Amino acid sequence: MGEAVRLSLAEVQATARALLVAHGFNLAHAEAIARTVTAAERDECRHHGLFRIPFYIGALRAGQASPDAEPVLRDLAPAVIQVDAGFGFAPLALELGHAPLAERARQNGIAALAVVNAHNVAALWPEVERLAERGLVALAFVSSAPYVAPAGGTKPLFGTNPMAFGWPRPAGHPPLVFDQASSASARGEIQIRLQEGQTLPAGWAIGPDGEPTTDAGTALAGAQLPFGGVKGSSIALMIELLAGPLVGDVLSFEAGARDKAGTGAPCGGEFVIAIDPARCTAGGDRTAQLEHGERLFRRILEQEGTRLPSDRRYRARERTVREGVDVPRALLERLEAISPGQQASRRDDAFGGEPS
Ligand code: NDP
Repeated sequence: MGEAVRLSLAEVQATARALLVAHGFNLAHAEAIARTVTAAERDECRHHGLFRIPFYIGALRAGQASPDAEPVLRDLAPAVIQVDAGFGFAPLALELGHAPLAERARQNGIAALAVVNAHNVAALWPEVERLAERGLVALAFVSSAPYVAPAGGTKPLFGTNPMAFGWPRPAGHPPLVFDQASSASARGEIQIRLQEGQTLPAGWAIGPDGEPTTDAGTALAGAQLPFGGVKGSSIALMIELLAGPLVGDVLSFEAGARDKAGTGAPCGGEFVIAIDPARCTAGGDRTAQLEHGERLFRRILEQEGTRLPSDRRYRARERTVREGVDVPRALLERLEAISPGQQASRRDDAFGGEPS
């Protein structure tokens, strides 16, 4: 990562909030986004931490994202609620939808939250983790912008379309969570490698000529590849449908067309499902269900070389809440360059965005 500066999580949160407010976000949005950014730094998910701040600000500066939209909660069906983010960023909308979604899942056994008109550049694990912390099984899906070629194709069409899954565990264990893009890598991984002058692993991307590339700039100008060929491609396709037509919002290629300024902070839908395990069996014995899941986890961990998804994040979390996080000095300098006090000298390419 090059030279780094140690920051406490409180400093990360204050830095994010101050930058967002200085650029015009209202306090509610700035705090919700800062919580998301800080959680990402805390869990050492760097591509959704402070690195993302220029994307939030860039979409605002381009006049594409609202700085103060108040998300609106609507009932669509007994077990389906909608939060219209009003072209603001997703974190505040997701916070609004969380408790009603959990409540509907308890009432109905299963419930869904459709978030629409939300700019989203965040990870999905926070939404499923907090539902699983309330004892619910959770799934979340979001599409993005046209970055990924469908299997066999060479032109970007699908988003990097992540899905996340959360499973509650007995007392004393944080939930099991996985959160993965349907592309071979998240786009942020490529953007960070571009900034740090690193090459990409083989199999992540093709260039504009359709040929495989390990050069980050060529990959961003070309197309990312789905993970696992046609299988990842079909998952990406499913997520396009769930986060787009199903909830009445756009497909990734439509979100891309709408992002006229190329901010890399697309606006679209997200679909979240919450399930109450106790309502899925005749006896409704949640303790037995969770213990049954533990048997699987124990059998996985008996095999050398395995770990559970999310264990890396939880281990990082234990450490960073005590010790803080190492933030690359170059990133802090980039953030300093976009702070309003530095506006005279700032460069437009300091703001998120995609090479067009
Ligand atoms: P990774 O490939 O880094 O990780 C995917 C999942 O696999 C994680 O849950 C990770 O757990 C788990 N995992 C990794 N290694 C192992 C292992 N050895 N054993 C068991 N589990 C393992 O994620 P991606 O690069 O695919 O995605 C990164 C992030 O980007 C996601 O959070 C995603 O939501 C986000 N994203 C957001 C988009 C948006 O538009 N908003 C678009 C695309 C991606 P762990 O965390 O513990 O390592």
